[in-house]
Amino acid sequence: MDFTLSEEQLMIRQAARDFSRNELLPGVIERDEAQKFPKAQIKKMGEMGFMGMMVDPIYGGSGLDTISYAIAMEEFSKVDSSASVVVSVNNSLVCWGVETFGNEAQKEKYLKRLATGEIIGAFCLSEPEAGSDATSQRTTAIDKGNHYVLNGTKNWITNGNTAEVYLVIAQTDKEKGHKGINALIVEKGMEGFEIGPKENKLGIRGSDTHSLIFNDVIVPKENRIGEDGFGFKFAMKTLAGGRIGIAAQALGIASGAYELALKYSKERKAFGTEISNHQAIAFKLADMHTQIEAARHLVYKAAWDKDQGNNYDLSGAMAKLYASQVAMETAVEAVQIHGGNGFVKDYHVERLMRDAKITQIYEGTSEIQKIVISRDILRD
Ligand SMILES: Cc1cc2nc3c(=O)[nH]c(=O)nc-3n(C[C@H](O)[C@H](O)[C@H](O)COP(=O)(O)OP(=O)(O)OC[C@H]3O[C@@H](n4cnc5c(N)ncnc54)[C@H](O)[C@@H]3O)c2cc1C
Repeated sequence: MDFTLSEEQLMIRQAARDFSRNELLPGVIERDEAQKFPKAQIKKMGEMGFMGMMVDPIYGGSGLDTISYAIAMEEFSKVDSSASVVVSVNNSLVCWGVETFGNEAQKEKYLKRLATGEIIGAFCLSEPEAGSDATSQRTTAIDKGNHYVLNGTKNWITNGNTAEVYLVIAQTDKEKGHKGINALIVEKGMEGFEIGPKENKLGIRGSDTHSLIFNDVIVPKENRIGEDGFGFKFAMKTLAGGRIGIAAQALGIASGAYELALKYSKERKAFGTEISNHQAIAFKLADMHTQIEAARHLVYKAAWDKDQGNNYDLSGAMAKLYASQVAMETAVEAVQIHGGNGFVKDYHVERLMRDAKITQIYEGTSEIQKIVISRDILRD
C-alpha cells in the first residue's frame, strides 16, 4: 500500500491551490452576496485544463486520473464552492457521461468544447415530483421516428442558465418503468426550451441554479445517449462518479474551515492567552483534523477504485456520506472558534458553513447514500 501522491498529483494540488488563492479568493464574498456566477474564473479554469480533467486528450481533455480531480476539487472548495460545483458537474456528470456512453459523433460535436471549457454543461434529472425518487420521471420524450418530442419541467439544475448543453433524462415508455427512460442531449436555444428564474439559495449562491421548461422541444434521435431505454442506467452510473466529486467538495469545505479556525485560534487571545491554549478549543481542532483525514482517505479510496476499474458505488456513497457530515460539523465548529467574528462575512467561515449544507443534499441526500450503502452490505 502506498499513500504517496505522484509528482503529477502534487503539481495539480499546487496549481489548484495557487489558482484558488489568486483567482477565486478575491471577490468570493461579493459574488456570494450578489449571487454572481464566477464567469471569468470558470473561463480561466477551462484554459488551465480543469474543466475536462479526466477526458482523453484526443477530445481536448487533460487525461488525468480521478485522484487528481478530487485533489483539485478539494482545493477549489476550500475557497469557493460556487465555482467548484461548476467544475464538478462539467467534469464528472457531463464530460464523463458523454465520453463513457456517447457515440463518436456526440464526442466530436459536444465533448471537445465541454472538455476545454469553451462551453459548459448541465445534468438534468431532478423534477418537482422526482428528487430522491428519480424513477418517477414526469418529463416525457415521445419517440416520433427520427426525433423525440420533449415535454416537462426539471428543477434545481446547476449551470441552468450558463450551460450550452443539457443532458436531459426523460420517460419515453411509461409502461417499461425505469427501462423506458432515455438521456437526451439538448442544446440551449432549441425551440420550446425555456429557462426559469434563478433560485435564491442558502449556499453556493454564486452557482447558477434554475428550473428548465420543455414545451414540445424537438430533439433529433442522434442526440440520444446509448441504446433506447438506457437513460436511467446512464443517470445512476454517472451520479455514482459524480458523488466522488461532491465528496471531494465536502472535504474541501471542511479543510478550508479547519485551516481558517486553526489560524484564528493561534492569533485570537482570551483570558491572557491564545485561544488555542484552551483545551476546549485545542480538542475541537484535534477532532476536526482527525475527521478530515478520515474523510480524505474515503474520498481518495473511492477515486482510486474508479481509476482501478473497481466498482465504486459503495466507496463513492460512503465518501459522500461521511465527507458531507464532516463538512457540516467542521464548518459549524469553525464558526464557533471564531466567536462573533465567525458570524460575519469577512472571516469566510459563515459562507463555508452555508455551503457545507448542500453537500448533504445534492447528487443523492445522505439518507439516499445510506440506502445505497445498506443495500450493498446486506446483499447476499
Ligand atoms: C443547489 C442545488 C443544486 C442541484 N443541482 C442539481 C442538478 O444539477 N441536476 C439535478 O438533476 N438535480 C440537482 N439538484 C437536485 C437534488 O439532487 C435534489 O434536491 C435531491 O436529490 C433531493 O431531492 P428532493 O429535493 O426532491 O428531496 P426529496 O426527495 O423530496 O427528499 C426530502 C427528504 O426526504 C428524504 N427521503 C426521500 N426518500 C427517502 C427514503 N426512501 N428513505 C429515507 N429518506 C428519504 C430525503 O433524504 C430528504 O431528506 C440540486 C439541488 C440543489 C438544492
